This record gives sequence, structure tokens and C-alpha cells, in this order.
Amino acid sequence: MELARDLGVSIRTFHEVTAIEGDAGVERVTLTDVRTDEKSVIPAGRVIAALGFAADLSAMRHWGLTFSERHVVVDSRMWTGVDRVYAAGDLTEYAGKVRLIAVGFGEAATAVNNAAVRLDPSQDLFPGHSTDHANEMIGAAT
Ligand SMILES: Cc1cc2nc3c(=O)[nH]c(=O)nc-3n(C[C@H](O)[C@H](O)[C@H](O)COP(=O)(O)OP(=O)(O)OC[C@H]3O[C@@H](n4cnc5c(N)ncnc54)[C@H](O)[C@@H]3O)c2cc1C
Repeated sequence: MELARDLGVSIRTFHEVTAIEGDAGVERVTLTDVRTDEKSVIPAGRVIAALGFAADLSAMRHWGLTFSERHVVVDSRMWTGVDRVYAAGDLTEYAGKVRLIAVGFGEAATAVNNAAVRLDPSQDLFPGHSTDHANEMIGAAT
């Protein structure tokens, strides 16, 4: 980012592209400041969607985790191998890993429930279904 800034590139964090307009092609883009909702229109001939990310793992490098390239190796409990440290989401690595949103949500539930048992071994790993609780409430109300 510093390199781009040093080259004179205008970097606008907290902004979203909210309109792309032009006749024969792209001519201008509307940027909206998500903090203030203020809009600014800038001339543009191209819009390049540079989506993607690179997690910065440097802060975790000394935690004793096992890394596989830029990912943290976990077991089926989402346990990293370091006591009380669980992980979920794109960051994790195991055989057959699929990096999708739905997978990350599932891993988060697995990580949280296994962490709960680690913290309190009297807890059940399976927390129950929300529908079970709904049925209990219906039963109590009738
Ligand atoms: C272009 C693209 C398109 C995709 N399309 C789909 C799709 O259609 N459907 C689908 O299911 N999945 C899609 N994915 C995958 C999906 O985005 C990921 O699976 C999901 O976002 C993973 O969620 P996450 O919370 O694990 O990680 P992320 O969403 O990456 O969140 C991690 C967050 O941690 C932050 N972070 C990184 N390092 C640090 C640090 N050191 N300190 C603090 N914060 C840090 C990052 O800035 C980021 O906000 C797509 C991914 C990409 C790149």
C-alpha cells in the first residue's frame, strides 16, 4: 500500500463503488464513503475488480501453531494442537479442505463446541437443536 501511495495512487479505504456509468464504455464511477454516505464521482476508463485477500499471520507465528504455507493445520475438532486454540474458516488446513462460506460457518460451530468441552468437560459436545428448545417452550406454554 505504501508503494502505491508513493506512486501517487489515490487510495480510498472505507469507500464502495456504488455506480459505474458511461455511454460507449466506462466513463465515471461513483464512490460512496460508507462512514458518511458522502458520494464522489471520479472519471474512469476501466474498472478492475481486484478481489482477494492475503491473511497476515505474522502475529501468530510464535504461538506454536503448525502452518501449511499460509494456513493453520487443524484436526477434525478444529483444534490447532495448541491448548485452547481452535480455528475456523479459510485460514484452516486439513485434508479435503474446501474454502467456502458455508464450510467456514460449520467449522466455527465445530470449533466453538469443542472449545466449550475443553473449558468445561462436563458440557456435552453436541449443544442440541434450537428446535428442541422451541418445542420445550411450546410445551411449557400449553
Ligand atoms: C473473489 C472471491 C470470491 C468468492 N466467492 C465465494 C462464493 O461465491 N461463495 C462462497 O461460499 N465463498 C466464496 N469465496 C470464499 C469466501 O469468501 C471465504 O470462504 C470466506 O470469506 C472465508 O471467511 P473467513 O471469515 O474464514 O475469512 P475472511 O472472509 O477472509 O476473513 C478474514 C478476515 O481477517 C482479516 N485479517 C487477516 N489477517 C489479519 C490480522 N493479522 N489481524 C486482524 N485481521 C486480519 C482479513 O482482513 C479479513 O477481514 C470467495 C472468495 C474470493 C476471494
